[in-house]
Amino acid sequence: MRTYKVIIFDLFDTIVNFNRSLLPEAELNGSQINSTSAAVYKLFKKYYEHVTFDDFYSAFLKSYEEFEEMKKKENLEFHNKERFKLMLDKLNINTNSDSNRLVEEMVLCHMGKIAGAMEFPEENRNTLNMLRNRYRLALISNLDHAPTAYKILDKFGIRNLFEKILISIEVGIRKPNPDIFLEAFIYLKIKPNEAIFVGDNFEADVIGSKNVGMDAIWVNKGNEKNRHEITSPDYEVTKFTEITNIL
Ligand SMILES: [Mg+2]
Repeated sequence: MRTYKVIIFDLFDTIVNFNRSLLPEAELNGSQINSTSAAVYKLFKKYYEHVTFDDFYSAFLKSYEEFEEMKKKENLEFHNKERFKLMLDKLNINTNSDSNRLVEEMVLCHMGKIAGAMEFPEENRNTLNMLRNRYRLALISNLDHAPTAYKILDKFGIRNLFEKILISIEVGIRKPNPDIFLEAFIYLKIKPNEAIFVGDNFEADVIGSKNVGMDAIWVNKGNEKNRHEITSPDYEVTKFTEITNIL
């Protein structure tokens, strides 16, 4: 095993877990869904009451899908408000001071509910505390709204464990784009082979870090098969806490 100076972590579904069932419930075509949509619609309706929830929801969903596609195309990051602008566009709502204000409100509401659905297992805290005694820790996270990432880290009291935190929207690029990793190396004054990456997403975390010359641990919770022909992680675990068997 190489000796590492720094461990760089992914945040979502690696350190903190997104639990969809903690999102508010909404009713859609007679069935219950967990989504931020009902809360966002409440704000929306104050401005545009003629639009039904069904029409709103269709634009809400489509704008999300298109926005995610847009990001993945070149692994660039765009602010969350661009998604809601896209949604208003789909509803044929013109841009004006009202719609701009609404976009800001919808971003805060949507991201607030997302943040509220994050869980941080106490055993993950123990793992991080154990590792910080022996390594420098850093974080690279794909998220289109930086304040939400910091809010989550603060809520669980773990922000100060990391020497460097890089949220994709802060640099306009997302994992697996090599540039976001290179940005972290420059700040940390390390070479790629002095760090190991820990993350759950094969494409963003494993391929991203391997492509820049880092070692990688894949937190493969779903026990998925690695279908990638060229890249494989150096280590694989099914649970975050198991990384202490390696590091
Ligand atoms: Mg993740």
